[in-house]
Amino acid sequence: MRRDYEKLYRRSVEDPQGFWGQQAQRLHWFRPWDKVLDDTRPPFFRWFPGGQTNLCFNAVDRHVQAGKGHQPAMIWESPEVGQSRVLTCAELYREVNKFAAVLGKLGVHKGDRVLIYMPMVPEALVAMLGCVRLGAVHSVVFAGFSVEALAHRIEDSGCKVVVCADGGVRKGKPVDLKGLVDRALAQSPGQVEHVIVLDRGVTSWNRVPQRDVLWSEAMAAVGEAEVPAQPLDSSHPSYILYTSGTTGKPKGVVRDTGGYMVALHTSMDFIYGCTDEDVFWSTSDIGWVVGHSYIVYGPLLYGIPTLVYEGMPDSPHPGVWWETAQKHGVTVLFSAPTALRMLRKFPTDWITRYDLGRLRYVFLAGEPLDEPTYHWAVAALQRPVIDHYWQTESGWPMITNAMGLEPLPFKPGSPTKAAMGWRLEVVDERGDPVPPGQRGFLVAYPPLPPGALLTLWGDDERYAQNYWGVFRRYGKFLYMTGDYAIRDEDGYFRLLGRADEVINVAGHRLGTREVEEVLSAHPAVAEVSVIGIADEIKGEALAVFVVLKKDVQENEGLHQDLVRLVRESIGPIATPKVLKVVPRLPKTRSGKVMRRVLRALCEERAVGDLSTIEDGATLDEVRQALEELRRVGFR
Ligand code: AMP
Repeated sequence: MRRDYEKLYRRSVEDPQGFWGQQAQRLHWFRPWDKVLDDTRPPFFRWFPGGQTNLCFNAVDRHVQAGKGHQPAMIWESPEVGQSRVLTCAELYREVNKFAAVLGKLGVHKGDRVLIYMPMVPEALVAMLGCVRLGAVHSVVFAGFSVEALAHRIEDSGCKVVVCADGGVRKGKPVDLKGLVDRALAQSPGQVEHVIVLDRGVTSWNRVPQRDVLWSEAMAAVGEAEVPAQPLDSSHPSYILYTSGTTGKPKGVVRDTGGYMVALHTSMDFIYGCTDEDVFWSTSDIGWVVGHSYIVYGPLLYGIPTLVYEGMPDSPHPGVWWETAQKHGVTVLFSAPTALRMLRKFPTDWITRYDLGRLRYVFLAGEPLDEPTYHWAVAALQRPVIDHYWQTESGWPMITNAMGLEPLPFKPGSPTKAAMGWRLEVVDERGDPVPPGQRGFLVAYPPLPPGALLTLWGDDERYAQNYWGVFRRYGKFLYMTGDYAIRDEDGYFRLLGRADEVINVAGHRLGTREVEEVLSAHPAVAEVSVIGIADEIKGEALAVFVVLKKDVQENEGLHQDLVRLVRESIGPIATPKVLKVVPRLPKTRSGKVMRRVLRALCEERAVGDLSTIEDGATLDEVRQALEELRRVGFR
């Protein structure tokens, strides 16, 4: 008989210390904690203070010591290069030890930062685990990000080593990752001491003497090294993961060690409903939080194989995911609505021709799950499809149906109720709870459960202000998620999108300010405004409105230049769907660009209240620009 959600949830919020203390005992600690939670310095909550543990030890060594060395830990499947590989727990142990030895030889110590910029290859996970083994803090950067984004993260994290591959492969085409690293490093000369390059033979690259180290040579040089996993304080930072905020500069979310480990392990049981028999596949990328939590640490901590996939959902054919799931007996699939919206275009025969008998659940997160996609997925896959909500900051699900418990009745359009430990509320602008059915800001009461962010890298003040300062002036101390939500009479949440200037393109968070800053730096640009508009497949896409400097003529070359600038600075995910030159932007009388008006015009909706607009004629100018676009095919 599976346990009841309400009972477990109540216990988790009424007696968090008892609940999480019990969960933590299922993992290995070098030294037990003095107490479960230190909440004496809010909003800097510390879980398991006094305790010492190691993520890598728990994810790798523990299973080897338990006699599970021969079991698969990682299954790599790469349709891009036509290869696949299985690493057992013992093989992973060996690789991780060797890589930790390589880092040690290069002078990496506990607390040092190591930036990882790699495609979806087993070595990327080895690199992450090697870092946390030593207590070095990894900062993984999505390999689809480009030079500016990478350079900022290198500089902000103060990393001394970068680990990259010579290249990635996307739809059969090589991506020159090492070249991008070289260009990014040129912006902060002298900072990074070594670049470890995994030579996949994908691109030809330039070896910088003294600085560049070849993965294969370095691993061979350390022989069969064993490096003991370092006992680390529970609140020792395990990683920094940058995410977009409302300013131009991404913020470095900092994760602890002990709390994160306990939260992920607990989630594998209760939320994902896993047992020893499962094979877990998250189709995300290690560059995102989902990848950190459910490609790497969650499944490995739990001791079940994780599938690491290098490729697209529809290439070389639209059934490749289901073929892969069949081949490896995947039992739990975790993906994003965007991918299913893309696969929905193909006949369901691409799914039904494969034997998905082992597949039990499909979890989706990262963006709102629209009802048509939900119904299509349930019908096509004949499995429970579970929408769940969380964010980089939370590290693990905040709102979800818990499949390890007696599941709650599903309501399409809602990820159901708060996950254990999360005390969530929907409030108005003063921080007061709103009645059921009314829209408001989704917030959490302190303390946040284990696994949530510790702070922002190098900026405690921004952390306190950004996340906890919003309702301060009304005397409320609440964690702001940045999302709008509604809670219904049954306590089910519906997410209604971001309440700030952050948009969600295909499940990836992008700050519109980041794109604006890149474009503003172009010599032809006087003013720019970037908004998110609805997109059939990606959920949201970028629309860019540019005002050119006097005497600059609009032409096709300039247009292409601006698009290229965004792609090269941030990455292909930031490629605008619409880029239009307009004579002026609609502004309020106080000079703020009326973004909601731009959005309404793009989406051909009513523009709403215009009482604060400075000059109504700007609307016609934007309308006319959009008309021209529609004539050439933009919808
Ligand atoms: P990220 O930190 O990049 O994972 O993005 C987190 C943001 O994605 C959240 O703050 C939400 O805006 C959005 N999000 C994530 N999961 C969901 C979901 N299940 N439904 C609606 N929005 C979601």
